[in-house]
Amino acid sequence: MLESEQRLNAKGQPLPAWAPPLILVLALIWLVYRLFSNNPFLFTHHLHLPIHEAGHMVFLPFGEFMHFLGGSAFQVMFPAFFTGSFILRRDFFAAAITLLWIGDSLIDVSFYVADAYRQELPLIGGEHDWAVLLGMLDMTHHADFLGGLTWWAGALTMLSGFVMALLIANHQAGWVKIKA
Ligand SMILES: [Zn+2]
Repeated sequence: MLESEQRLNAKGQPLPAWAPPLILVLALIWLVYRLFSNNPFLFTHHLHLPIHEAGHMVFLPFGEFMHFLGGSAFQVMFPAFFTGSFILRRDFFAAAITLLWIGDSLIDVSFYVADAYRQELPLIGGEHDWAVLLGMLDMTHHADFLGGLTWWAGALTMLSGFVMALLIANHQAGWVKIKA
């Protein structure tokens, strides 16, 4: 492996060899747990929630629709800033890992979208974002379908992030030779 191909951490030092495999194992546990859990309040929800609430404020100047959409949109956009920043630093392994965060956030949103018709989820207060949004669009009766679509978008984002991270780590460490 060339010196220039070694993974560098934030201080410009190469990551220890055990770090990428450990991160991949944790990412796989996270991925499987997320995809097989029907819990709308998974542990990561507590990470998404403050970002979601900040999003309502960020999008406040852009009208009522964007104000209600802003929470969900921002909790998905926020990790994408990290993806972009890692890509700019050419840390593609870390960029791929952030796709799991984006996908997890989409799945977190999907439960909220799907709940727009039934409105059974306990809210921290205020109005149900997706009941308002889908109501404005006259699409409340499609809540289950749209929630399902969002879930699949999240699941595919997480899966592709994991597969990319695995391929990049393998390319850098040379565990298994893949012939093109
Ligand atoms: Zn909200």
